[in-house]
Amino acid sequence: MSPTDDGAPGYGSAGSGHGAGHGFETLAIHAGQDPDPVTGAVVPAVSVATTFAQSGVGRHAGYEYSRSGNPTRRSLETCMATLEGAAGGLAFASGLAAEDAVLHLLRPGDHLIVPDDAYGGTYRLVNGVWGSLGVSHTSVPLGDLDAVAGAWRPTTRMVWAETPTNPRLGIVDVAALASLVHARGGLLVVDNTFATPYLQQPLALGADLVVHSSTKYLGGHSDAVGGFVAGGDEAVLEELAYFQNSIGAVPGPWDCYLTLRGIKTLAVRMERHCAAAARVVDALLPHPAVASVLYPGLPAHPGHAVAARQMRGFGGMVSFVLRGGEAPALEVAGGTKLWTLAESLGAVESLIEHPHRMTHASVAGSPLAVDPGLLRLSVGLETPDDLIADLLGALDRAGA
Ligand SMILES: *Cc1c(COP(=O)(O)O)cnc(C)c1O
Repeated sequence: MSPTDDGAPGYGSAGSGHGAGHGFETLAIHAGQDPDPVTGAVVPAVSVATTFAQSGVGRHAGYEYSRSGNPTRRSLETCMATLEGAAGGLAFASGLAAEDAVLHLLRPGDHLIVPDDAYGGTYRLVNGVWGSLGVSHTSVPLGDLDAVAGAWRPTTRMVWAETPTNPRLGIVDVAALASLVHARGGLLVVDNTFATPYLQQPLALGADLVVHSSTKYLGGHSDAVGGFVAGGDEAVLEELAYFQNSIGAVPGPWDCYLTLRGIKTLAVRMERHCAAAARVVDALLPHPAVASVLYPGLPAHPGHAVAARQMRGFGGMVSFVLRGGEAPALEVAGGTKLWTLAESLGAVESLIEHPHRMTHASVAGSPLAVDPGLLRLSVGLETPDDLIADLLGALDRAGA
């Protein structure tokens, strides 16, 4: 019996309805979203009911209570699992809720290897929450496989990877890391938030689990917080479904609907994000105030060859470091008109932020601290010429 005690799978499984053999765009629009069998509606209903009628005790159509399972959430889970090429997947109330469910696979005494430039919230969860519950960790530059091997302990059970990383846009060779982790009997988790399944499919590269903050590119419109986990091992999925139902950090049906709606245009949005980011990079490179531009699409980027191999495109995130350090960086961050100064990323509107004081303030002073002269851009879908003019104007005004 499944952990939800309803006999139905406790997660969205790929392969139901439109499945293998179709292209990414087709699956993004149709997987888990067959027309409603009763009304023919082409959009899955936003199923707001918290409970579902039973025709006899324990006899129901697969749903009994919306924390345990909800039809709109199941559509999203099926669609996302299909896009990641997973056996199944689970949606959560936020990216961190999804990560927390994955970390529940560990037990006190277990050890975990995390990137030395992990997303700040991931580091806080691993260090601040799980550290005090007896799960220890080592921060390692994951691009360096010798460093990963060197950090391995007899109690190491999981390696957490992000690629591209945040905010330095480092690249991890997922296939190489997966063979190292599997040779030692560990589990490889990849946070695929920056790339999305359109640009990169970690499970196909050998990862065991893929996690997302769907708040970013998947939703894509800055209007729904959410998270997702997918994997290929049904026993692990059942365990995660047990945590999802037992802990209860589930997304509401409206947020699931908004995320599903966003995913339909993921492929076209990612193509535009990538193209616009490449143009912004070209505009930043020659500017005298810019010391360096961090973008995996640049041939000089240390991860370029691996990124070219494992990604379909180089993404919409760009970081750059100002020669003058923090003072001009703060001026530029506050000096753009079109680029909104804000945390988060991956939506239609372009954002600029100062990681040292904003997204990564919680790691200031730690080994994960970010260069105070670094600015991070989430290149949106406005007219690229407008974005470039605004950014160069702010750089010039900062006298940087
Ligand atoms: C935003 C983000 C998260 C956390 O997701 P939330 O939806 O904010 O909880 C995790 N990983 C990465 C890479 C992110 O950008």
